[in-house]
Amino acid sequence: MPLSENHATSTEAGPLQDAGELPFPDVDLMHVWHLVEPDERQRLSGIRAFLQERVRPESIDYWNREEFPRHLLPEMAAYGLGALQLDGSSELFKGLVYVEAARADASLSALVGIHNELIIGMILELGSVEQQEKWLPGLTQFTALGAFALTEPDHGSDIAGGLSTTATREGDEWVINGAKRWIGAATVADFSLVWARDTDDDAIKAFIVESTRPGFNATKISNKVGLRIMQNADISLDDVRVPEANRLPGANNFAAANELLKHSRAWVGWQAAGVQLGIFDVARDYALARRQFGRPIAAFQLVQLPLAEILGNAMASLSLMSDLARIQESGDLEMVQAAMAKSTTTRLARESAAKGRALLGGNGVSSDYEMAKLFGDAEILYTYEGTYEINSLIVGRAVTGVSAFVG
Ligand SMILES: Cc1cc2nc3c(=O)[nH]c(=O)nc-3n(C[C@H](O)[C@H](O)[C@H](O)COP(=O)(O)OP(=O)(O)OC[C@H]3O[C@@H](n4cnc5c(N)ncnc54)[C@H](O)[C@@H]3O)c2cc1C
Repeated sequence: MPLSENHATSTEAGPLQDAGELPFPDVDLMHVWHLVEPDERQRLSGIRAFLQERVRPESIDYWNREEFPRHLLPEMAAYGLGALQLDGSSELFKGLVYVEAARADASLSALVGIHNELIIGMILELGSVEQQEKWLPGLTQFTALGAFALTEPDHGSDIAGGLSTTATREGDEWVINGAKRWIGAATVADFSLVWARDTDDDAIKAFIVESTRPGFNATKISNKVGLRIMQNADISLDDVRVPEANRLPGANNFAAANELLKHSRAWVGWQAAGVQLGIFDVARDYALARRQFGRPIAAFQLVQLPLAEILGNAMASLSLMSDLARIQESGDLEMVQAAMAKSTTTRLARESAAKGRALLGGNGVSSDYEMAKLFGDAEILYTYEGTYEINSLIVGRAVTGVSAFVG
């Protein structure tokens, strides 16, 4: 397990049990990993080893410094993490890759998820052949990065009706004006997929806006309590001109965005399951290493209880998500299912993070021990891709037929 040695040193508790000696080292109590085909399982174990050995230990320092480890991108590409939408992977395999990524680092898992579900997904589903030919080869190799720019400073939960960034057609060009907020990777990306309202027909459209366009500015948002590796940004768009060829021809209303958000909400459900596995890893390591009253704290009933609760939450999340993958595979996924999965798994992740944080006592508030990092990251999962409340309202509307968004 990563950080075992750090914990042992820091707590002066002696060496930890080797992960291989632990009962259930992989904690796949519900045998979800067994549901993928053997070749995918083998690929998954290579991805897990890379993420656990290479990414996870290094990510804590980057998280503390709010920096982006760009040097990891070529290796992530070599493991196929940039091409999950195009390589024929099953939905379950893709989901388990998201789990492994989040177990190692939630920020990089956000990069991988947004990259595949919202950037490549959007260009594939809504882009022109020329746009696909231009961007997909670089994106799949992580030599190009995109950002998904929907949220605005004054419109988050009500973005569907409130979107106020404008696009005005002038000859063969569009002139875009407005502002976006919280946009992941926007300071390091080559382009942003900007959603804007056409001043002519009031329809919501989407444009590829290269970061070098005059009038485009992305400023990093610092001091976040979670997802600190992800470079979120405020974007200003001041008379930014893009050619008509940069408009995504399939993006002509908010329904097009919703179709993408359905799948990206499902991705956050996988992320929540992965973060909980990370929480369990750290909590179990620590419980075995830390000694109080002359014995490892794992020997106390009140320490085993949160361990069992965290694992139960993680397995409930994983099982729910593997059922969701079955529905995705059949092409029948609806927003209500994605919203329910996203809200439920992130609620559980937040609960698991609080229990894990408490289990580490004082060391639970220092990100040197990773738990505080997971604790902060769980907060972001609860809020982005539609807040917990908004996703619950989507479920409530679906099952009652009554919309309660506006009281
Ligand atoms: C770290 C991070 C990364 C993000 N990445 C991206 C990105 O890459 N691209 C992008 O476009 N966006 C991104 N977002 C934006 C994210 O999707 C929004 O933050 C989210 O949708 C909530 O919007 P808001 O922050 O404006 O909150 P608000 O909408 O202002 O909500 C504030 C509170 O009011 C509640 N609320 C609002 N309306 C209702 C209602 N009708 N009924 C009940 N409660 C309500 C909310 O649940 C919340 O608790 C990111 C956000 C964060 C924090």
